[in-house]
Amino acid sequence: MSLRRRLLVTTATLLGLAVVAMLTVVAPLVDRRMNTVIPGRTLAASPAAQALHADATIVDLHADALLWPRDLNERHDHGHVDLPRLQEGHVALQLFSVVTKTPRGINYDRNTGDTDNITLLAIAERYPPRAWRSLRERALWQAHRFEQMATQSAGALRPVRTVRELDQLLASRGSGSGVIGGILATEGLHPAEGEVMNVDTLFAAGFRVFGLTHFFDNEIGGSAHGISHGGLTAFGRAAVERLVALGAIIDVAHASPALMDDVLRRTGAAVMVSHTGVQATCPGPRNLSDDQLRAIAARGGLVGIGLWDGAICEVSAGSFARAVRHALSVAGDRAVALGSDFDGATRVPFDASGLASLTEAMLQAGLTPEQVRGVLGGNAVDFLRRHLPP
Ligand SMILES: [Zn+2]
Repeated sequence: MSLRRRLLVTTATLLGLAVVAMLTVVAPLVDRRMNTVIPGRTLAASPAAQALHADATIVDLHADALLWPRDLNERHDHGHVDLPRLQEGHVALQLFSVVTKTPRGINYDRNTGDTDNITLLAIAERYPPRAWRSLRERALWQAHRFEQMATQSAGALRPVRTVRELDQLLASRGSGSGVIGGILATEGLHPAEGEVMNVDTLFAAGFRVFGLTHFFDNEIGGSAHGISHGGLTAFGRAAVERLVALGAIIDVAHASPALMDDVLRRTGAAVMVSHTGVQATCPGPRNLSDDQLRAIAARGGLVGIGLWDGAICEVSAGSFARAVRHALSVAGDRAVALGSDFDGATRVPFDASGLASLTEAMLQAGLTPEQVRGVLGGNAVDFLRRHLPP
């Protein structure tokens, strides 16, 4: 190699290393900046609320914690979810959704799928090169990290993929263990990359809940924040058929109304809206109308109410309780749940350790203790018992 060539190679290598080093520093900063808690919004729980909260089975239908450079076994002073904070919040089961592609700017009303924020984050977090470009590989890598953290947790985090594992988790907790269950979910089915066989690959990797779209229209169909606002595509229909055949749960959060209608028309599909709000208390492109609430409830579906501004407008436990009260009045007591969207690039009133605020707010809003138990997790447990593989 000539001296000149050697110099060039050395310079390029150093530049590459400098970029990686810079990105490695940047990723935790992005996490810290994007997942925040608004100070002073924790609601002190009365003794009655504390007792109810400690005795309830708490399930959160949606958090994006796996996207960020955090070991969930350790407590962090930023972001929203890790095992110590889930334990403090008395959470029994957390659904961990994988985000694999988000458009630049993440416009709430309208995005194309032409740009992608996650590529740089994937490089910064040292995903394997195969996951720099492939969305399927990104989902599989996050699933792998989840499994790895569960293994390293010495039994504190337990993956749940079947009814049997769910019952074992609840039995362990019933006998005093603080073990927390985790279910893998996708935030949009673009990790299938337009191939039905990839749906099988994701299911085999442990995913049990499949979001169809995220912030842009994809191969499956229209997003609530996309351009087409379309229903299921031909591939979307094939993918949904496959999900139903596998016994997977379909999540229509972020779906365009037409896509939601198409999925709800399909009998047999187990449907949830993992994280959303209701139009009646907070209008917005992805929040549910009363008709949608009724349609989902009629199908035995589940609606998770979130904690960020897009779902409840004013970010507070009281505002969550108002959305819940409305959803209960329209969809019935069995159809409503918690879907925080913790760590979803969100500003929330408290992190996972502060969930007792919700119990207090729901009691203050006049919900009965039975309704509160249902929303905190009882309804989610019933739904998952009906729809996870045995
Ligand atoms: Zn989301």
